[in-house]
Amino acid sequence: MSDTKAPVFSCPEEQKVFSRVYKYADMATRLMEEFKTPPFPNTYALMYAYAAGENDDIALIVDEMLEKGDLSPYEIDNVYSRHLCPMQDQAKREKIGQRVDEQISSVLDLVGTGVENSDQFENVLKQIGNGIGESTSLDQLSAAITNLMSENQRMANQSRKLNEGLKESREQIELLRRELEDVRNESMRDPLTTVHNRRAFDMKLVAELEVAQKNGSHLCLAIADLDHFKRVNDSFGHRIGDEVLKIFAAIISENIKGQDLVARYGGEEFAIILPATDIQSAAQLIDRIRLQTFQRKLVLKGSKKPLGDVSASFGIAQFVPGMTPADLVELADQRLYLAKSQGRNRVQAEGLKTSAA
Ligand code: GH3
Ligand code: MG
Ligand code: MG
Repeated sequence: MSDTKAPVFSCPEEQKVFSRVYKYADMATRLMEEFKTPPFPNTYALMYAYAAGENDDIALIVDEMLEKGDLSPYEIDNVYSRHLCPMQDQAKREKIGQRVDEQISSVLDLVGTGVENSDQFENVLKQIGNGIGESTSLDQLSAAITNLMSENQRMANQSRKLNEGLKESREQIELLRRELEDVRNESMRDPLTTVHNRRAFDMKLVAELEVAQKNGSHLCLAIADLDHFKRVNDSFGHRIGDEVLKIFAAIISENIKGQDLVARYGGEEFAIILPATDIQSAAQLIDRIRLQTFQRKLVLKGSKKPLGDVSASFGIAQFVPGMTPADLVELADQRLYLAKSQGRNRVQAEGLKTSAA
């Protein structure tokens, strides 16, 4: 006798949902088998989302990956963090939103009780006041005072409870504010290198372009791409490749400040937005990053075996009024391509002598 039991469905609707889910799960599993991709959770999530066909971007990207046969874990992680994490962020945000709602209801309850109590207090005070006149006996006055004291005590207790409730609620709200801030930050970062991600880059570029257009201020964009990075992966493995990416991102981060922003633009490409910076200053800064990258002699942790030359090429574009964000990116990209074709490990910026090691 078989151990597996047929699922029990409470209604035909549930049966439909289940059979759809099984179908997607089956398709995701078959894709991973076919492309010999280990079923890591991110891979499964991506393949399942692809099978379910709920997201057009994912469909396009995965189609392209399947066509190229490139389902490497880092490509999958890239797509996952760019297209599936935002959905998780949304779920987290919704949860926080629910808790904010709950807090608001509980504060309203507290305040409502407080108001009810103070109305009650007022009525009792009025009653006590009305009972006092010229002919009030000492006993009656003494009873009124006792009554007043006990009402006062009751009100003081109520307000203490109200204050405690409000204080606790304030702490909860502060905690929620911090959690929301963390989720917001996470959704703007690349998980591997911790620099900003493409989403943050797109938003910042649009904003800075508006500023430059409005104020006539300078703005430069540099795009960096590690040279022959495939070789690093092929010779030392992807984990070491990932470490190199982190080091490169750190070198860039250490060299920028203030309004500048570095983002992971693609696999081994980074984009650097430099507001209020003219092309000469941008080229100087970027060349310093290039040199520091090249001069950082990387070795393997245990064996101290050198990784050999690690370098990057850079293209810089300066904003000219009327340009769109896509124009600026395209120009920087063209110059990056030129830097590559001129021998790599160099910075290409219009009108400036290119620098190389
Ligand atoms: P070029 O100098 O022309 O840029 O050569 P390249 O080898 O760097 O360029 P190519 O575009 O052929 O290869 C880029 C490689 O970067 C492909 C992929 O293996 C690797 N890559 C992309 N993202 C990651 C990542 O997150 N981690 C690791 N380890 N490698 C990555
Ligand atoms: Mg590249
Ligand atoms: Mg490269």
